[in-house]
Amino acid sequence: MAEIIDGKAFAASLRADVATGVGAFGATAGRAPGLAVVLVGEDPASAVYVRSKHKACVAAGMESFEHRLPANTAEAELLALIDRLNADPAVDGILVQLPLPKHIDELKVIEAIDPDKDVDGFTIGSAGRLATGQDGFVACTPLGCLMLLKDRLGDLSGKSAVIIGRSNIVGKPMAMLLLRESCTVTIAHSRTQDLPAVVRGADIVVAAVGRPEMVKGDWLKAGATVIDVGINRVAAGEGKTKLVGDVDFASAMEVASAVTPVPGGVGPMTIACLLHNTLQAAKRREKIA
Ligand code: NAD
Repeated sequence: MAEIIDGKAFAASLRADVATGVGAFGATAGRAPGLAVVLVGEDPASAVYVRSKHKACVAAGMESFEHRLPANTAEAELLALIDRLNADPAVDGILVQLPLPKHIDELKVIEAIDPDKDVDGFTIGSAGRLATGQDGFVACTPLGCLMLLKDRLGDLSGKSAVIIGRSNIVGKPMAMLLLRESCTVTIAHSRTQDLPAVVRGADIVVAAVGRPEMVKGDWLKAGATVIDVGINRVAAGEGKTKLVGDVDFASAMEVASAVTPVPGGVGPMTIACLLHNTLQAAKRREKIA
C-alpha cells in the first residue's frame, strides 16, 4: 500500500516558514510584503479563491489589497488599475483572478503585470525565464507539486516523469521544472496514443487533466510517485457532491509508492506557494537576501 502525501501538512509548514520570513522582512524593510488580488465579476468559485488568498495573506502577516470590480468593467479600466498597482511601492505581488469576463482580453491583462510582481508566474516573461533557466516566478500549482516531489524523493535527477496535460498554468511549467531537475520528461495530452503505456514507464506521474479518476492503478509502474492536480466535483448520491482528482485514488494506492489525495494534496500547496512567491518578490524588490 502506498503512502499518502500530506499536502495539507506540508503547506502548513511552508506557510509557517513564510510567516517567519515575513517577520524578518518587516524588521529590515520596515513594512510588510503586499499582495494585490484583482477580481472582476461575481464568479462564485473565484470569489471563494480570492477570499482564501486574502485570509492566508493576513495569517502570514502580509498586507492584502483586494480590488473587486464589477463584471462590466472596461478592459482599459482594468489595465489602468494594473498600471497603478505596478507603480505602487506597497504592492510586491499582483494576482488577477482568472477567468476574466469574455469582453476582456486575458493575455493583454496578464502581460500588463510588471514581471517583478508576477507572483502567479503567468506572464510570457515568467514562462520564458523558466524555459531558459533564469530566475523568475514559477506558477504556484506546479511549484507546489515540485516541492512535494523533492520532499518525498530528494534528488529527481534521471527519473522518468510523465505529465498528463499541457496547459500553460500547470502542464507546461511542470515539465520545465522537472526538466530543470534533470528528469526525462514526457508531456502527454488529449491526442496521446496509448496513454496507459506511456504512463507505465514513469517513476513520477503528474496528472493535470480535469477528468475524474481517469488514471487507473494498472496504468502505473510499481512504486511510482503520483501527483494528482485534478479537482473535479462529482455526484456522491442523495443529491450530494464530492471532490475527486484525475487519479483513481484507491487503485493507485495499490501500485504506487506515494500518492497525493484530493482534497488535501496539491490544492493547499497552491496558496502556500503564492505566499512564498510574494515574500520572494518583496525581498527582491528591497534587495534583501
Ligand atoms: P486545462 O483544461 O487547461 O488542460 C487540461 C489538459 O488535459 C489539456 O492539455 C489536455 O490536452 C489534457 N487532456 C484532456 N483530456 C485528456 C485525455 N483524455 N487524455 C490525456 N490528456 C487529456 O486544465 P488545467 O487548468 O491544466 O487543470 C487541470 C486540472 O487541474 C483541473 O481539474 C483543474 O481543476 C486542476 N487544477 C488544480 C489546481 C490546484 O490548485 N490543485 C490548480 C490548477 C488546476
